[in-house]
Amino acid sequence: MATFSTEGVVLSHSSPTDSGRLVTLYTWGHGKLQARLRGSHKTLSKLAGNMEPFCDGLFFLAHGPGGYTVIGVDAASPRSALKRKLQTTAAASIVAEAVIRLTHDQQPDRRLFAVVQSVFSFLDQKALRTGSLLLLITWFFLRFFSLQGSGLEFSQCVRCRKKLTPGTLSISFSLGGALCGECGRLTSDAQALRADTLKLFRLLNEAPLADVLRVKTSTASLVQALNVVSRLYRYHLEDSSPAQQFFQALS
Ligand SMILES: [Zn+2]
Repeated sequence: MATFSTEGVVLSHSSPTDSGRLVTLYTWGHGKLQARLRGSHKTLSKLAGNMEPFCDGLFFLAHGPGGYTVIGVDAASPRSALKRKLQTTAAASIVAEAVIRLTHDQQPDRRLFAVVQSVFSFLDQKALRTGSLLLLITWFFLRFFSLQGSGLEFSQCVRCRKKLTPGTLSISFSLGGALCGECGRLTSDAQALRADTLKLFRLLNEAPLADVLRVKTSTASLVQALNVVSRLYRYHLEDSSPAQQFFQALS
């Protein structure tokens, strides 16, 4: 059985059974993977405390015919501040669920690892108001889909390539970005987009995580932006998702 260590974050875990419990990790070296925590309830409890959702650390794993097993963890953070509030827990759950459902096993993307780790850390360190949480989630999804190769384009009309001017703007998921008024009328899945929401998307697309909370916008554009990324997520899932409940808990 091969053993190795890698940095990782816990995305979710299953309820414990007699044979242990399953955890889903996103790791720096191996991408998303499911690993078993073995042991009796007593020995498990020692390890399990560091294997709660959103924890990060250095994980020691064994890989054999039965899959991955967690041998140990050198925990960096239990993320206890994050988990004290329903809204930050909901935000972290949205991030974890998107990674679980829309990435493939064992295909590491180190940029995505850094994004997920930094979002959990951000949620753990800062006392965030609802508006800041919505900005953060919107930023995460723009970055996430961009890393997945299905990011939205906001710099020009995705259909005719003309400069976008305030007016009748819209957005299309099938074409992958913003549309001018004329092209919006010709596109079946075009949805109306406020000019200030377009501006917000452009700012968030450029902003590193540390600058996200400095982005100023109207409540209406923030609500629309979250609505767009939530529908984009559903579009990529192609089915209904439990994350919708978390979106509702945030709004
Ligand atoms: Zn156009």
